[in-house]
Amino acid sequence: PIYLDNNATTPMDPRVLEAMLPYFVEKFGNAASRNHSFGWVAEEAVDYAREQVAKLIGADAKEIIFTSGATEANNLALKGVFEMYASKGNHIITCTTEHKAVLDACKHIEKMGGQVTYLEVKSDGLIDLGELENAITDKTVLISIMYGNNEIGVIQPVREISAIARKHGVLFFTDGTQAVGKVPVDVIADGIDLMSFSGHKMYGPKGVGVLYVRRKNPRVKVTAQMDGGGHERGMRSGTLNVPGIVGLGKACELCMNEMESEGTRLSAMRDRLEAALMQVEEAYVNGNREHRLPHTTNISFKYVEGEGLMMGFNKNIALSSGSACTSASLEPSYVLKALGLGDDLAHSSLRFGLGRFTTDEQIDFTINAITTSVLKLREMSPLWEM
Ligand code: PMP
Repeated sequence: PIYLDNNATTPMDPRVLEAMLPYFVEKFGNAASRNHSFGWVAEEAVDYAREQVAKLIGADAKEIIFTSGATEANNLALKGVFEMYASKGNHIITCTTEHKAVLDACKHIEKMGGQVTYLEVKSDGLIDLGELENAITDKTVLISIMYGNNEIGVIQPVREISAIARKHGVLFFTDGTQAVGKVPVDVIADGIDLMSFSGHKMYGPKGVGVLYVRRKNPRVKVTAQMDGGGHERGMRSGTLNVPGIVGLGKACELCMNEMESEGTRLSAMRDRLEAALMQVEEAYVNGNREHRLPHTTNISFKYVEGEGLMMGFNKNIALSSGSACTSASLEPSYVLKALGLGDDLAHSSLRFGLGRFTTDEQIDFTINAITTSVLKLREMSPLWEM
């Protein structure tokens, strides 16, 4: 089958696996073992990976905290800042289209006595910068707005957001999971104070991720959410996942080298797919098309159910629908609802996530299969009248 669900997870690049392999059996040491060469070898590998990761986002290696993934990094950023800066204030600003790992961490913070403002987005998925600035109070400690959205690919105006945050002395955290490795992200130029991302969205392994925590102008700290041996400068204890970290480092290096040409290749393929599917009547692209990740498009085909539509081709093409959401429920996507889509259009959406191993032939096949399925389903639909 053709894999077009790269926003859910990416296949691992074989070059990443190759880098990881020695660190399972042969070089198995604990990176925190300071007394022998087994530990030194592991520590050296982690140090090298930390450099590779830092380089991709314009950070210093010391600013990289390894975690088990972006979910953990999001929790550490939000809860960690909330706790660390409690004496300054208890207010966090985020938006309604964030990943559940942000929204649910915010709900937890509300239970702990925090106050959270959930900004609505405009119909194109972007936040309103005026609303953001108006939401800031003297109790605000953090703005949490994602870089690129996982469902619609929309890229938020990160530099404008960070400028507002800075002006008011508020920290800025961004969930970079879908953006890092796909588009140029530079924590200095972008004014980012904290940023999460994940190995398995960038052709690296699952179960490893990063929280970038700025160390200069300003020096940022988060309260550990995992206590123990004091690893990762005390911010995240636990024996390091050495093979995973080595893999993530290699994945970052590959993205660094190939991002530019890949971005061009993917956006050309994505645009071709989109243009062809827009030939179908009553098809709509969801979200801003200009400020968008190069590999993502989300399209609603009115009068057909996304789930039903997928049944027509899901043996051959793997992708996601806005009606098959995070849980087993058939609630339409809250992200699409936040753009103002009705249940019908939200339910009739498909998310296309292209990736490093997507080919032009696969796009041709997909255009055909989806067009045929939509037309066939509409013929049978009582809602569709000619
Ligand atoms: N944030 C975003 C924007 C994501 O797309 C994902 C993955 N679905 C996550 C966070 C969670 O990442 P992980 O799977 O590494 O926990």
